[in-house]
Amino acid sequence: MDKPLSQYLDLDNPQNLDAYKTTGGYQGFETALNMQPQEVQKQVSDSQLKGRGGAGFMTGIKWSFVPMGKDAPKNKYLVCNADEMEPGTFKDRWLMEGAPHLLIEGMMIAAYAIGADVAYIFLRGEYRLCATRLQQAIDEAEAAGLLGNNINGTQYSLKLHLHTSAGRYICGEETALINALEGKRANPRAKPPFPQVVGLFGRPTIVNNCETLCNLPGILKNGSQWYAELSGGPDAGTKIYGISGRVKNAGLWELPMGTTARHILELSGSMQDNLTLRGWLPGGASTDFLLPEHLDTRMEYDAISKVGSRMGTGVMIVLDDKHCPVGMILNLLKFFAQESCGWCTPCRDGLPWAVEILSRIEDGQGTQDDLDALQQLCGFMWIGKTFCALAPGAVEPLRSGMKYFADDFQQHIDHKGCPHGH
Ligand code: SF4
Repeated sequence: MDKPLSQYLDLDNPQNLDAYKTTGGYQGFETALNMQPQEVQKQVSDSQLKGRGGAGFMTGIKWSFVPMGKDAPKNKYLVCNADEMEPGTFKDRWLMEGAPHLLIEGMMIAAYAIGADVAYIFLRGEYRLCATRLQQAIDEAEAAGLLGNNINGTQYSLKLHLHTSAGRYICGEETALINALEGKRANPRAKPPFPQVVGLFGRPTIVNNCETLCNLPGILKNGSQWYAELSGGPDAGTKIYGISGRVKNAGLWELPMGTTARHILELSGSMQDNLTLRGWLPGGASTDFLLPEHLDTRMEYDAISKVGSRMGTGVMIVLDDKHCPVGMILNLLKFFAQESCGWCTPCRDGLPWAVEILSRIEDGQGTQDDLDALQQLCGFMWIGKTFCALAPGAVEPLRSGMKYFADDFQQHIDHKGCPHGH
């Protein structure tokens, strides 16, 4: 099958500019430069590409809100969201380490399509190898005249900067990312106005995920029809799927959109010896648990939502039968409590409170009232009750875990300790 992303991937020795061009690199950008920006937007809209950061919003529609034409503001920005901090997710790192020129080319196409003259890669600070390789690729592209003024003799100019994050999970939220890039505290902003109109430094800004941008060179080179047909399902293209937890071989694979979760588990060699699958999170730590009976679900946005979870990043985390679900959920909640930006009360106070109660339960000190309080807390932090999606995402594994693993929670109370001996 076609692998528009991973065909360029070499983790040990990523392609330099010449090698990337020899294998068809930068042809997508050259195609774009011979089109009007709105034509590029239309091609991406027609491809049905959905954002790969988690929300699954249509990329072409997102771009269409940016003011275009002679009356549009002079400065516009493109930002690559490469602040990959979702626990269990490592797909963007794979792409940036293994195919840095693919991301640069994708950004050049996106920037041209929206008329941006400055672009930033907002990179997770710990991704040092990504930073080195991306900067090398940027330098090579600049030296070759692919970035800078009057690219390929056209009127179009683009400056691309690499920015390494100081390290907060909330910077993955696009308006918090924009605040951080402006040197401000990384709190989310109220919407509207949306960043497409009032974003970085008050100018129209598109923030796209790293994997989303890496899909653009193939779409421009081969056409929207080719891309839409790669999957054979309602969600177009391919996806970097993956899995972590106690499987035989945790890893990542580029597969058609809509591949079943069972197939991804099989690619990993299945569960480690003497372990049985009890549950799985479909796309990172901030998604609801699903069960083994859901493994034949296609990993696409609507299908996963129909069985009660979210696609998220598409990188699964498995829970095995020797691992305590209460302990696993506590571990995830501690992370989210630490990463709350503190802006709104339900999240700032609710997440540490949930950690306190859950710690008590895990230690065998919990009561029936604690279980009721946890249920209530899930409601207080649900969608619409908090300023951004961090808190609702954080309670997804808790509320679904309390539903699917209710016996484990109850046993901690009844037997005053962890039934798994943790
Ligand atoms: Fe900050 Fe509120 Fe979002 Fe939590 S839900 S990260 S406190 S804005």
